[in-house]
Parts: sequence; C-alpha cells; structure tokens
Amino acid sequence: MKKNRDLPTYVTKPFLPPLAEFEPYLKEIWDTRWLTNNGKFHQELEQKLCEYLGVKYISLFSNGTLALITALQALKITGEVITTPYSFVASTHALWWNKIRPVFVDIEPDFLTIDPAKIESAITPQTTAILAVHVYGNPCRTKEIQRIADLYGLKVIYDACHAFGVMQKNKSISNFGDLAVLSFHATKIYTTFEGGAIVSHDEKMKERIDYLKNFGFADELAVVIPGINGKMNEFQAALGVLQLKYIDKLITKSKEIADFYRKSLSCVRGINMLNEMEETRHNYSFFPIFIDEKKFGKSRDQVYSFLKNKEIHARRYFYPLISDFPAYKFLESANHKNLSIAYNIALRVLCLPIYPDLNHEICKEIVNKIKECQDE
Ligand SMILES: *Cc1c(COP(=O)(O)O)cnc(C)c1O
Repeated sequence: MKKNRDLPTYVTKPFLPPLAEFEPYLKEIWDTRWLTNNGKFHQELEQKLCEYLGVKYISLFSNGTLALITALQALKITGEVITTPYSFVASTHALWWNKIRPVFVDIEPDFLTIDPAKIESAITPQTTAILAVHVYGNPCRTKEIQRIADLYGLKVIYDACHAFGVMQKNKSISNFGDLAVLSFHATKIYTTFEGGAIVSHDEKMKERIDYLKNFGFADELAVVIPGINGKMNEFQAALGVLQLKYIDKLITKSKEIADFYRKSLSCVRGINMLNEMEETRHNYSFFPIFIDEKKFGKSRDQVYSFLKNKEIHARRYFYPLISDFPAYKFLESANHKNLSIAYNIALRVLCLPIYPDLNHEICKEIVNKIKECQDE
C-alpha cells in the first residue's frame, strides 16, 4: 500500500490557525506582561463567547474539569447527585472531588443521554441535583429533566463539554440548566489548548463563580469563600479569540465528513448509527458507529484492532462505562442490571476519526477498511 502522509490517523486532531495570525497576540502579551488574572484577552473572550453562544454570562476556566468541580461548589451541591455512566470520566470525578455520591441512571437508546423516565426512581432524600451530559453533543431531554428537577427541588448541571456551538430550535443548548460547563481541551472542536467555562444566568451567580475560580478573592483584601485557582490565562484566551473566527467553518467541514460516513456506511450490514435530532444544529465532533456482532460478522474489538493495524486509530468512547472503572464499581447504582442500555452500547460503540481537515481520501479508506474487515 502506498504510504499516505495522513497516516497514522487519530480519532481527532486539533485545528490551529496559521501561526502568523497568533503572533500579534503573543507580541501584545509580551509587551504588556499581562499573562493571566482577567486580562484583556480574557475579557474579550468572555464577551465574544457570550455573543457567539447566545448566553448571558460566561466564566472562563483553565480546563473543563475545574469548571465542573467549581460549578458544583457554586450551587453548594451535597449528598447524592444523579448522573450518567456514559460519559468521559471527569463528569463523575467532579462529583467525587466535592464529596458527593454519584448515583448512576441508565441512558435512553436513541441519543444515549440520561433517560428522564428512570430518574425519579433513583431520587432519595439525599438527592440534591442532576448532572446530565450532552454526550457526543446530543442535547439531553432538557424539558423532562427540568420538570423532574422542579418537582423535587433539584438543581440541574449540564456537562456540555461535547456540545460547543450546538443549537436546538436556534437556541444554544448551553442555556439549559442552572449551570452548563464547557471544555476547550485540545480534543474538542473549539480549543484553547486547555480550557473550559461555566455558563450562568444571573449576575450574582457569575460573581460567585468568578470569586471561586480566583481563590475566593472579592477584592484585594477580602477572601469571601474558600476558592480554587481555576483561571484561564492570556495565551489560552488569545487563542480562543482567534479560534472563534474559524469555528463555523470547522463545524461545516466536520459535517461534510459526518455526511460522507453516514451515506457510505448506511448500506453496511450490522452497522448502526445515531440519527440526527430534529431542529438541531450539531457540531459533528464525534462519529460513533455501533457494531452488531451477529449481523456484521465481526466484533467491535475486531474492527477496532483491524483498523489499528492499518494505522487508523478509532476509539471506543465510552467503554468502559464510568461505573465499571474500579474507582466507582463498588457503588450500588453501578450494577449492570441498572444500566443495561449503557452497558450494551458501550460494548458495541466505535468512534471513527472526525475533524475538520480530515482528508477525504482517508475517510474513504476508513470506510473501505471497515468493509474489508467484514469480508475478511
Ligand atoms: C473533555 C471532557 C471533560 C473534561 O474537560 P477537560 O477540559 O479535559 O478538563 C468533562 N466531561 C466531558 C464529557 C468531556 O468530554
């Protein structure tokens, strides 16, 4: 086989603007020596993100995990929190770091987000909140979740780390819940190297979050709450400002790849894909396929290894389930009987490479290799 310069191919690859476009920002940081602590680019990015996302308040963080941990602090969440096992492990870690007990509830089969119909039976007198995840950028059933939260007096926090730029009925999904958390990690479609944010809805909450991420300082002399250092620095913020100029183009290009995969894999026996949601603008940062071993003829892990041998690194997100990691397996809610949909999905899922400048030839190659694996 001809050596292709785009191999090995990983599941994602960060987009960076031309270096020359970043240099003036660097020069300014060098000249002013303002490296962090609510500098010019930090302020500019908060304002621009509010405009781009159509949200009222945003607080930038050095990463998404600290933003999640701080969001739970900001809402004073304690006791038990209902959450999904089908996510990146940081969603549950954020609970544990706050000494909160995670209670896992199964996902629904269409979009793989937490199943509202199973939430109520998991509520106990200790339950204080629901931490739901817009997994793969698929919006949770926000209306039903809010109805339950209102009925039982629970807070709702959305881990929106996959969902940058996702809109439903022309409304940003980061508007839902008491707070929503974003990540700008290198693997996300919108990146600031590392980074994150909390979206909030009123000035008081925004102020509280900003104190919390800066050691609890309200002014030069007053520490009003036990805070942490979660601040985003000027390098991250400057890159963020620049990346915003590209994000719509990046989403459009990723959509083309998703459309290609969808079209070319739809006729392959034993491969299932998620539908697109109605009235939703997705961000196409994941392309999960689900392999039905009986119909496809090979197991998910066989396909994974076959591709890996050809230097195509698909990933089994989200396998194992968070509830299957030794760190959380002992929890009562972690048993498979309770989480059978999530468990079955985790055994079948394979996320294919997708990112804005993924070469079309490679996409074709990936599809061909999957078919080859089936025929082998
Ligand atoms: C990436 C991610 C996080 C963590 O964000 P970091 O910025 O890497 O700390 C949390 N939850 C989900 C669902 C994620 O995908």
